[in-house]
Amino acid sequence: MLSNSHDLIDRATVIHQQTDLVAYKDHGGTIIKRGEGVYIYDEQGNKYLEAMAGLWCASLGFSEKRLADVAYKQLLELPYYHTFFAKSHVPSVELADRLLSIAPKGMSKVLFQCSGSEANDAAIKLVWYYNNARGRPEKKKIIGRVRGYHGNTVASVSVSGQPHMHGGFDAPLPMMRHTENPHYYRFHEEGETEEQFSTRMAEALEKLILAEGPETIAAFFAEPVQGGGGAITPPKGYFEKIQPILKKYDILFLADEVICGFGRTGNMWGSETYDLKPDMVSCAKALSAAYQPISALMISEDIYNAMLDQSGKLGTFGHGFTYGGHPVACAVANETLKIYEERNILGHVRQVGPLMQAGLEATEAHPLVGNARGIGLIAGVELMANKEKRIPFAPEAKAGIVVQDEAQKVGLVVRAIGDRIAFTPPLIITAAEIDEMLAKFGKALDAALPRLK
Ligand code: PLP
Repeated sequence: MLSNSHDLIDRATVIHQQTDLVAYKDHGGTIIKRGEGVYIYDEQGNKYLEAMAGLWCASLGFSEKRLADVAYKQLLELPYYHTFFAKSHVPSVELADRLLSIAPKGMSKVLFQCSGSEANDAAIKLVWYYNNARGRPEKKKIIGRVRGYHGNTVASVSVSGQPHMHGGFDAPLPMMRHTENPHYYRFHEEGETEEQFSTRMAEALEKLILAEGPETIAAFFAEPVQGGGGAITPPKGYFEKIQPILKKYDILFLADEVICGFGRTGNMWGSETYDLKPDMVSCAKALSAAYQPISALMISEDIYNAMLDQSGKLGTFGHGFTYGGHPVACAVANETLKIYEERNILGHVRQVGPLMQAGLEATEAHPLVGNARGIGLIAGVELMANKEKRIPFAPEAKAGIVVQDEAQKVGLVVRAIGDRIAFTPPLIITAAEIDEMLAKFGKALDAALPRLK
């Protein structure tokens, strides 16, 4: 079959996720054929440096043979089994043990699911289950953040603060609330320091809790670094000020480590980087280097004890998916975690992360760039119409998309989130590949300039 016929069949048959369906129908997209290291190749043979690791996930790049071998071996031995009805299998047991041995402090049990969305959806259900078990049926509302992202099931998209994912879908669910977006660069007032801004964010959260009634607020969901909101690192003092408020009102804290988990910020967990003390932790993506769909929700002993009570009363823990904790996915995840340790992936991120951060921060000298910030191997570069006055581009200019398109033309895949360009390359990226990525991004910015100014 000719490659351009794939494009036509694709347009005629596939519904593309998170895509402008009208534009896609008319113009199509790019069909990716294969991957090697940090590079991907389309059907025409064009090579791209994948500076987003797919969807923030292909942490070991696109050609890690060990993971393919482990998957094949597992497929031959036990291609499928489940963990319903008191059954188990070796890959699930081994993965749970390994994961909890490196988990953020206080995590006691793990529930395997298939995606980040499912892990967060399960967390929402458990928050409700927990408060029912504790005899507090009114304590059910969950607070997320404007521009926060926790997935696309009905419940996880509802706790997400992404209006374009709510529109047309009758989301969010009525028991979800959203507090302010702690994006300092964009929303600080003139002369306001990061600490002062964080205080204002914490005060806004407390005000929301009090207005709703603390007895109705069950949980707060946050990503250590906001990914889908634009790769936004928290302002100084933010989590230090937020966490005591959650404790004060007996509100569970879920750290969504779906992007940050497994080294992205230079530590195993974003929770370590920002000194978070969550009651629940969700992770996915780099858990299996994205080679298999798997996620994990880890919970504290206190939540587990409530589950025991509730399950005891009801006769079962009535939750589960056919493919949750799939043996092939567990085996691949287990091997991924071994590779991280053997190759000292954390050490590598700490070594090359500063090169990426310095290179991106240097783009602030470019007329289109107002701000570039990140940590480890995650960063966001914010495009501004007038950076002296912090005036953004009009949405119709589609500045982010223009830069993203120009990047693709020079062989670089980045992601425009509004007018913020996100970078999360595979964790194995080398210093030389970071130089190449930065050079290509510089070319893309230069090419976009006449289209935007
Ligand atoms: N949570 C965060 C922080 C994410 O970035 C994502 C996906 O990008 C999700 C949850 C949802 O994960 P999935 O797409 O695997 O359902």
